[in-house]
Amino acid sequence: MQPKYKRVLLKLSGEALAGNNKFGLDYDTVYEICKGIKKCVDVGAEIAIVVGGGNFWRGRSSGKMDRTRADHMGMLATVINALALADALEQLGVVVRVQTAISMQQVAEPYIRNRAVRHLEKGRVVIFGCGTGNPFFSTDTASSLRAAEIDADIIFKATMVDGVYDSDPAKNKDAVKYDNLTFKEVLDKELAVMDLTAATMCKDNDIPIMVFSLSDPDNIYKALIGEEIGTIVKE
Ligand code: UDP
Repeated sequence: MQPKYKRVLLKLSGEALAGNNKFGLDYDTVYEICKGIKKCVDVGAEIAIVVGGGNFWRGRSSGKMDRTRADHMGMLATVINALALADALEQLGVVVRVQTAISMQQVAEPYIRNRAVRHLEKGRVVIFGCGTGNPFFSTDTASSLRAAEIDADIIFKATMVDGVYDSDPAKNKDAVKYDNLTFKEVLDKELAVMDLTAATMCKDNDIPIMVFSLSDPDNIYKALIGEEIGTIVKE
């Protein structure tokens, strides 16, 4: 099967790695997701991953804590997830490199754009930890930034929801799911695709986003070969 997209930036939320626990890491869940990623690598796709940290810590939910410090903690949480993903991928025989936006060279490579691209060209999965490396940003924004830098064809945003809705499907049983959206619609209606900084970056750099659920880890592969799952945002 021929992939529809050659180079993909996969955004995994931290929550997606927690399984039913909703907090921390569930290695079995991580392993299942990594099987889906391996399937994509096996058909020749180049996969770069930005992983969130919300299963451990989110800076914006840290109450009285100084926001910059809280965000530093959030970025460290993304590294725990990045290492778990790397471990599971390696156990499946996938060659993988972790690069972090904040240097921790005993643990991972520092983020170097050209080096990341070279890894991808060689068929290695690259996992980006620490988001953008800056407080007050999110891993969604890191996804749009890295996707632009590595010239990705698309961002796959794999989450807990099976697409973008006109209202929160957890709160409104009549919420309607969109199959296609434009960036203008997302920005005008402030739809919960990504935060607005991230959506604006994707719009400006012409990077489409496909939003789908990870409840079936095979969805990553289905999205790759062009099956219409979830919601696609473009133009
Ligand atoms: N974070 C940050 N800068 C970034 C990316 C992330 O400071 O560029 C911090 C921020 O505190 C954030 C946390 O890391 O809440 C975890 O990332 P995010 O909330 O995006 O994770 P997700 O919700 O996708 O699991």
